[in-house]
Amino acid sequence: MSELNEKVQKALKYLRGMESTAGEKGYYVCYSGGKDSDTIRVLCELAGVKHELHHNHTTADAPETVYHVRSIPNIIIHYPKLTMWQLIVKKGFPPTRLTRYCCEYLKEHGGEGRFKVMGVRKAESPRRNERYDLISVIGGKAQALQVMADNLDCAYRVTKEGLVMHKDDGAARMFIEQCYRTENVHTSLNPIVDWTDEEVWKFLKYYGVDVNPLYEQGACRVGCIGCPLAGGKQMKREFARFPKYRQIYVQTFDRMIAASKENGKFRQTGTWQTGEDVMRWWCGDDPRQITLYDYELIELSAVREEDLADIYKEDTE
Ligand code: SF4
Repeated sequence: MSELNEKVQKALKYLRGMESTAGEKGYYVCYSGGKDSDTIRVLCELAGVKHELHHNHTTADAPETVYHVRSIPNIIIHYPKLTMWQLIVKKGFPPTRLTRYCCEYLKEHGGEGRFKVMGVRKAESPRRNERYDLISVIGGKAQALQVMADNLDCAYRVTKEGLVMHKDDGAARMFIEQCYRTENVHTSLNPIVDWTDEEVWKFLKYYGVDVNPLYEQGACRVGCIGCPLAGGKQMKREFARFPKYRQIYVQTFDRMIAASKENGKFRQTGTWQTGEDVMRWWCGDDPRQITLYDYELIELSAVREEDLADIYKEDTE
């Protein structure tokens, strides 16, 4: 049996084995429109488990992603109350690699109180390698989770944000049943957590899955247009391809500067006079960006966590 086939069988076994813990509605599958999402979608179908596909629309997704997501049968699409552009103005600075407040607000929510299935993989980044394993429990009171896992004698590893388990045994299942409905705890089954990029592509090809057309156009990841995680070069490539989005961002930065001045939170960083200045900085074209401004923004981000908390509050009211 090939290594990939073993991994597929393992993923199917876990999906079937833990289905009973997912409650009446079944698994809450987090579907982003990327290749990993399509892999877990197909795995859920092959496993024959009860599940719902949920997608968080970010408002800055590429048109290809929007159409691909809409083509998926029975997909449930969630729209945010604030768009990316409103969020940037409210926050007072653009998202950066270090302060990805947009992902937190626009993408990484939903499925509270549900047992999720996610397409995260360790190979994607060191952060994901640390944060995820077959089962991830993020948030909540870390100590309480550890005591519970100890008592049930689960095999677990403590992470910065919670704990992870690398295998499903009866104890892990009991643990999940007891904690995934707890407030602020996000529990997910990550059936492809140890898959490589090549294995994902091989699987999708074998099952003849239509993937997001952005991949055919050379994209290696499918995020928002202008996502800072992609790096300056890729951001500029995307803005060259989607000039309208660039224009919307620049206009947003203009509004952001005006709003910050108006509410007294604007701090002169030397280069930020206009939206174009911010865009240059954002794409890494400002030679003075390397230290000072980054630090200033990180400091600002800490101050403005309050603002983000307000946004969440408004959303739930
Ligand atoms: S994918 Fe990038 S731009 Fe989109 S919400 Fe996440 S961090 Fe922000």
